[in-house]
Amino acid sequence: MPVEVVTVPCLSDNYAYLVKSGDSCAVVDPSEAGPVAAALAARSWQLSHILNTHHHLDHTGGNLALKAQFGAKVVGPGKDAARIPGIDIGVDENCGWEFSGHKVQVLEVPAHTRGAIAFVMGGNAFTGDTLFALGCGRLFEGDAAMMWASLRKLMALPDATKIYCGHEYTKNNGRFALTLEPGNAALQARMKDLPAMTMPSDMALEKATNPFLRVDSREIRESLGMQSAGDTEVFGEIRNRKDSY
Ligand code: ZN
Ligand code: FE
Repeated sequence: MPVEVVTVPCLSDNYAYLVKSGDSCAVVDPSEAGPVAAALAARSWQLSHILNTHHHLDHTGGNLALKAQFGAKVVGPGKDAARIPGIDIGVDENCGWEFSGHKVQVLEVPAHTRGAIAFVMGGNAFTGDTLFALGCGRLFEGDAAMMWASLRKLMALPDATKIYCGHEYTKNNGRFALTLEPGNAALQARMKDLPAMTMPSDMALEKATNPFLRVDSREIRESLGMQSAGDTEVFGEIRNRKDSY
């Protein structure tokens, strides 16, 4: 499935993404309509679909205006349909979705919100506020076990999968990561030349550097004093420490 992805910065640190395939164009997580409409106009593209990874306003705030302007269909988590503005098509892990004649994988990744989903299209994963570059989302509607299960679901994607996240939090995430794993050479290298805009990442890089995916790292476990704890406990402690970092 050949798709072209355009990153559209929104609000202060959000990202929306245009996904173009054939005559179809979707936007993922439009925080606001203005920058998305401008990015479409610059390319003379029409919007056919609006995809939401979860209900938060900084991911759905542009839904209604873009739907009104383009007649685009809103696609979001069916299990959270009541909280998705303008939703037309509710999707889940079983039904998936089809975009421009291609299968789209929908992964249910609850914990940041209980209805959170990720869209996987042609080797590109749109992970919303579940997996960030060098981080993960806060546990607003789930617990550590739920988020760890969701992240493991994402980790099962091929290593080459490009990762497009909902926010540019990478620099601060990386500083925190270095407090737990200062000896990680891949993490040091990544932080040394970090660009201002860090999307996309990829799964191999996240597995090598993202502390939330590295609960089996000996150095992280030693930093936490949790050498023999279970994976969920280690994950939960990393999340706790990040919450107060
Ligand atoms: Zn959110
Ligand atoms: Fe967000």
